[in-house]
Amino acid sequence: MAANKARDLLIVGLRNAHAMENQAQELMERQSERTGDFPEVQSALRRHLEETKQQLRRLEDCLSQLGESESTLKDTAMSAMANLTAMGHAMAGDEILKNAFADSAFEHYEIAAYKSLLTLCKHAGIDLSTPLQASLREEEAMAEWIDNRIEDVTLQYLAKEEREAA
Ligand code: MG
Ligand code: FE
Repeated sequence: MAANKARDLLIVGLRNAHAMENQAQELMERQSERTGDFPEVQSALRRHLEETKQQLRRLEDCLSQLGESESTLKDTAMSAMANLTAMGHAMAGDEILKNAFADSAFEHYEIAAYKSLLTLCKHAGIDLSTPLQASLREEEAMAEWIDNRIEDVTLQYLAKEEREAA
């Protein structure tokens, strides 16, 4: 009985994670087009975008292992990340900074989501740890990359503003 509840919550969680990754994909597609002034950021976004597509595939595999079809997936897309989507700022002078803050929040949201899925798997007696751990590690690596670049990106933004004011 308890395992059944965990299994139900796991399926809901996997669907929500799929919606989350769809949002991540859209956000990074938009951002990666607009970060030409910051090539290092652009290539990190493109790299993580490819990882994100793989993460979507992994979640689809997890769901089909649990007997959930793809068609039921599309219905539940969106909603999970409504708040964070609002952080996808329009191009403005300091967009690069605001995006970095929002992306940092997004990656930490994803980390928490994958940890929660792994916990539910354990309680449901379902082993999806290989794909979920792989995605978790990618989110942790991206969160760390962003953390490590905040200073640099701030200084690059400052230098760009100073150049443009001169
Ligand atoms: Mg992701
Ligand atoms: Fe991510």
